[in-house]
Amino acid sequence: MRSDPAEYDLVAPANLQAAVSLLASEPGRWLPIAGGTDLMVQFAAGTLRARKLISIARLPELRRTEVFAEEIEIGAGCTYTDVRKHDIVDSEFPMLARAASWTGGIANQNRGTLGGNIVNASPAGDSLPALLAYDADLILVSVRGERRVPYASFHTGYKKTKLAADELIRAVRLPRRFGGYFSHARKVGTRNAQAVSKVCIAALARMEDGTVQDARIAFGSIAPMPVRLAETERLLNRKRLDPSLVLLASKTAAAEVQPIDDIRSTARYRAAVAGNLVAEFLERLGETQRAPSEVLARWNGLPADEAENEILACCGSRVWARGMAARRPFLDEAAVLAASDETWRNLGESDWMEAFRSHPRIGESRAAQILSARSAAWSAQEQSNAAAADDAIKIALAEANRKYVRQFGRIFIVCAAGKTGSEILQILRRRLQNDDGAELREAAEQQRQITQIRLRKWLQG
Ligand SMILES: Cc1cc2nc3c(=O)[nH]c(=O)nc-3n(C[C@H](O)[C@H](O)[C@H](O)COP(=O)(O)OP(=O)(O)OC[C@H]3O[C@@H](n4cnc5c(N)ncnc54)[C@H](O)[C@@H]3O)c2cc1C
Repeated sequence: MRSDPAEYDLVAPANLQAAVSLLASEPGRWLPIAGGTDLMVQFAAGTLRARKLISIARLPELRRTEVFAEEIEIGAGCTYTDVRKHDIVDSEFPMLARAASWTGGIANQNRGTLGGNIVNASPAGDSLPALLAYDADLILVSVRGERRVPYASFHTGYKKTKLAADELIRAVRLPRRFGGYFSHARKVGTRNAQAVSKVCIAALARMEDGTVQDARIAFGSIAPMPVRLAETERLLNRKRLDPSLVLLASKTAAAEVQPIDDIRSTARYRAAVAGNLVAEFLERLGETQRAPSEVLARWNGLPADEAENEILACCGSRVWARGMAARRPFLDEAAVLAASDETWRNLGESDWMEAFRSHPRIGESRAAQILSARSAAWSAQEQSNAAAADDAIKIALAEANRKYVRQFGRIFIVCAAGKTGSEILQILRRRLQNDDGAELREAAEQQRQITQIRLRKWLQG
């Protein structure tokens, strides 16, 4: 039976302080509503017991995403669309970006929030295994102040959490330490789109000299709350990855998950799928360890100055290129990508600037400092969508670019690959609001992503 709107109070405080004060005034009586994609289903079914609702959908304090050197903070009120479109989430936390992209349909992604998914505490919440695997922390806020709770201890049972009646989740924090890791996320449901998952995996690990390191395997939908497979992880860590280890890990995972029977699936099916998903993760992890590509084998053997000049097309900083050449030989692509990130992060501002100057402005073809025909060709490829934008977008981009140069004294750097002209324009306008320090860090992060893409292209030959 549908609910009667006249029986409900709905208030929309203007800021976070007002929202937590209201929650504290009658703890347990007021229920936050963010995107409403879970609560409105209950409302429509006549099962929404709370009668007093606080809308937190428009609180600016919950919609911010901030990038720090060691971690990223995603506001709990960020929608799935915000999450999946964020460049750093996409590049450093791809399993979370993927989960956001397969949650419901587009309309749902535009309204449903990360905080809502966490507090709704469904065992099938799609973002939850990724949060577990990435060691997320939650920032909870109330009139008493803030506290930081590891996500791993937040869910205490089926639909149960550590959230107090007067608290909100303000943000989710993720450590930025998974750069050199291989990750694998997959949702198994009746169909890919708009289906609640039967089993959902988020797993990551890195390889060192052919051995598995720091395996982190999380599952959703199989138990009353998302789980990490501690025993399977222990079995894998520091072991040489070979077919017998894959088989043993797959069997251990199937035995460890202890799945539930419910309307979506049986325990037996879930255990078998969990084992298969772990095997799939490990087989893909193993593929990253194939013999070095021809390009890499040849480059490993070049004299230092030639090696430096060749790799300079991937990132225009001489110090970076020299550092990469000095770290040879590399075993495989994963090792090159990890070394690149580390070298880049340790550079000074003037080296970053040198790399920025090797790019043409978006919409133009000549860089301030031309490095190589290969670098120019890659820039043209990366910017091809922007180049195809209509005239109005191109004019607006040129104008915003000029404003950016006046404001920050350098060209605007964005990882343009796959982005349309209007998406780039939106990003550019947003970044014009940054202060100098935040903008420099964002530009450096974009250059890091561009370098990763170029390194992959280069190694593929
Ligand atoms: C058609 C449809 C398809 C869906 N598909 C999927 C899917 O594929 N995968 C999936 O995981 N989910 C799916 N969902 C469920 C839902 O979209 C998600 O759980 C979503 O993340 C909920 O977020 P919300 O902001 O809409 O939450 P709301 O409905 O606003 O709130 C949900 C709960 O969270 C609480 N809450 C919200 N924000 C906060 C906060 N910041 N602090 C404290 N408490 C808070 C509310 O009080 C409430 O208890 C689907 C829903 C629909 C209607």
